[in-house]
Amino acid sequence: MYTLIHNGSLIDGTGNQPLNDAVILIKNNIIKYVGLEESLNLPETKIRKIDANGGYILPGFIDSHLHLMSNGFKFEDTMYTPLSLYFYKAVENMRLTINAGVTTVRDAGLADYGVKMAVDQGFLLGPRMQISVTPLSITGGHFDYWLKSGFDMKTSYPGYPGSICDGIDGVQRKTREVLRAGADVVKVMVTGGVMSANDRPEFPQFTVDELKVIVKEASYRNIKTMAHAHGVAGIKNAIKAGIHSIEHGTYLDQESITMMLDNGTYLVPTLIVMKINRERAESGSMPVYGIEDALRIEDIHRRSIKKAYKAGVTIAMGTDSGVIEHGINLQELSLLCDAGMKPMEAILSGTKVASECLGWQDKVGTIETGKLADIILTKINPLKNVESLGNPNNIPVVIKDGKVVKNLQ
Ligand SMILES: [Zn+2]
Repeated sequence: MYTLIHNGSLIDGTGNQPLNDAVILIKNNIIKYVGLEESLNLPETKIRKIDANGGYILPGFIDSHLHLMSNGFKFEDTMYTPLSLYFYKAVENMRLTINAGVTTVRDAGLADYGVKMAVDQGFLLGPRMQISVTPLSITGGHFDYWLKSGFDMKTSYPGYPGSICDGIDGVQRKTREVLRAGADVVKVMVTGGVMSANDRPEFPQFTVDELKVIVKEASYRNIKTMAHAHGVAGIKNAIKAGIHSIEHGTYLDQESITMMLDNGTYLVPTLIVMKINRERAESGSMPVYGIEDALRIEDIHRRSIKKAYKAGVTIAMGTDSGVIEHGINLQELSLLCDAGMKPMEAILSGTKVASECLGWQDKVGTIETGKLADIILTKINPLKNVESLGNPNNIPVVIKDGKVVKNLQ
């Protein structure tokens, strides 16, 4: 089965300037040709044609930090929500993610192996994914759902191990447990969080020695690690331990930025969740325990990301969708531009750079021969108007794995 995309300008995700009148030939799910029409020898068989209508052709985007199984992060929700409802809601969350032009994601916690299987086996429409299943947390840390009342709000079920682990032996065992549950990446909470009742985003969680054990255990299976990290002490602990990516990265100082550069650590900012949390805190639509943190840290976070960008830290796009609504992932791009990026750089952070962060640069992230056909079409030139990508209505066509999974034309 051949597909030909034609009549559009190609922004291939490698950083190349747009190629006008580009064509892309796809065989089944693989990109076979990218370039100008005149040098293409069309196979003599039936070819499905997709007209880009003079618009722009881009790689499917990659969100390096979201939560497909989450709709807001309120501890108390687990009291009222039957387990199955999380899964049914995830069906819609995944559809919205595809609708937004995101064809690959790294789930930063909650999606389990069955969710991934359902998408991989084609039962459900959703992005291809790397899952972390359960984020690791210390007792009293960012993923400890124990309340001071003595009630424990945690959800756990077969396939979704509990989060809490302490000490060298404890974290080693927990890492193995999460890997057994099917994690493609190990997520660790190395500081407190904004939306958690027991801790503060500034304070570190886990020792460097504990983190080293987690990183090592994951590395035995070629698996990377990602650290939820706000405060600078936790960020430095994570970098020292060899964690692959720093998520959020709220309080960065010069030393931590230098350490990231020296270690080749990725930074995954989540500017949009900071913005929306601040807006929610201002309008009073946030649980009391989150308000103070949310008001304070948006600005601090943006300034940190600016500094890191200027210094040359490698930045992959993330959103924390799930804490905020799903389906507006690419609004992050214009926020990255507010932090100093040019539109092309923001696009790369959500395509090529993100694919490298996930270790999937051979499969996705750019439109090149031999890669999987994850492609979106957009009407508006995103290099002139990067904000336009934040509105899914401007993305009429999404192709994942060679299949048209969204078509408004
Ligand atoms: Zn998150």
